[in-house]
Amino acid sequence: MLVIHPDECIDCGVCEPECPAEAIFPDTVPGLQDWLVLNAEYAPVWPNITIRREPPADAKAFDGETDKFPQYFSPNPGQRDL
Ligand code: SF4
Repeated sequence: MLVIHPDECIDCGVCEPECPAEAIFPDTVPGLQDWLVLNAEYAPVWPNITIRREPPADAKAFDGETDKFPQYFSPNPGQRDL
């Protein structure tokens, strides 16, 4: 999981079609308030993504699964070795 700081995003929409899981939405979509709060909370404290990495080996198994939050959420997400 990654988060985007709502105050830094200018809603250009470029990232939305690039997300392979189609998991990025503009903050104007109704019903996303909880995600906005989560993004605002963790964007300042989680590490910035500065390099491209391969997705987790099991990413496809979770793609499209609903109700991932909060069952899979960790406030301290793991960082694979580079
Ligand atoms: S919509 Fe995506 S690409 Fe555009 S500013 Fe926001 S996070 Fe960055």
